[in-house]
Amino acid sequence: MNTILISGASRGIGLELTRHFLNLDWQVIATCRNPELALPLQSLSSNPGLRIMPLEVTSAESIRHLAQTLQGQPLDVLVNNAGVMGGDQQGLANMDPTAWLHTFAVNTIAPFQLSTALLPNLLQAELPRIITISSQMGAFGLEMGSGSYAYRSSKSAVSKVMQVMAQELRDQGVVVCPVHPGWVRTDMGGPNAQISPAESAAGLAALINKLTLAESGRFWTWDGREHVW
Ligand code: NDP
Repeated sequence: MNTILISGASRGIGLELTRHFLNLDWQVIATCRNPELALPLQSLSSNPGLRIMPLEVTSAESIRHLAQTLQGQPLDVLVNNAGVMGGDQQGLANMDPTAWLHTFAVNTIAPFQLSTALLPNLLQAELPRIITISSQMGAFGLEMGSGSYAYRSSKSAVSKVMQVMAQELRDQGVVVCPVHPGWVRTDMGGPNAQISPAESAAGLAALINKLTLAESGRFWTWDGREHVW
């Protein structure tokens, strides 16, 4: 039985990934900051494969508690999905540095911390995979739009972090990839985005299921294409 842990599973892409992997008969450890408020996630709890656990990704204590609770539990896939857009004030004229730091805490530092905390669990799996939901908005190879300095820089940084981690963990057989999930109709992506959360989750799941060490350390799109850095 395969096990996947997803951060930020209360809504959006994380919730849909949870639903999708449950339908594939995986064990899903769905984490969110406030399980008791995550009603759409709770509505899936009749599925015996679902375990809902609290996790605030910026809290070292919360990560430590999760890792302790999961001690000895093999983990095939970790999806670092929790993310924030970084607020309204991220333009040339109105940058809010405090919000920028928080954006880095959630989007960049937390995926590193969670990955290292759960590494012992991942190393017990046959083909361990660390998947981090990054964004095309952080790609250096695409010159798109303006503003969103906090969000873009946090995603550029997490992609780099995952590239380095992939190299470092290759000898231990761990696949590490940043992935762009598409422009998705969630609270973050907005109603005009191109694809539904279900489409994104289905594509991400297909990708996750075919990744091997040969694809590790490369940046992917939700529909299985290689992304420019
Ligand atoms: P949503 O805003 O719909 O959901 C964000 C999720 O992250 C929520 O579950 C939220 O929990 C959780 N979260 C935020 N901060 C924390 C925290 N400190 N600790 C734990 N959980 C937290 O976003 P999406 O589903 O659209 O985005 C998911 C990922 O995909 C993000 O990393 C995002 O950057 C990325 N992405 C999204 C795109 C899109 O078009 N939607 C495009 C490219 C990348 P809570 O409910 O408690 O707030």
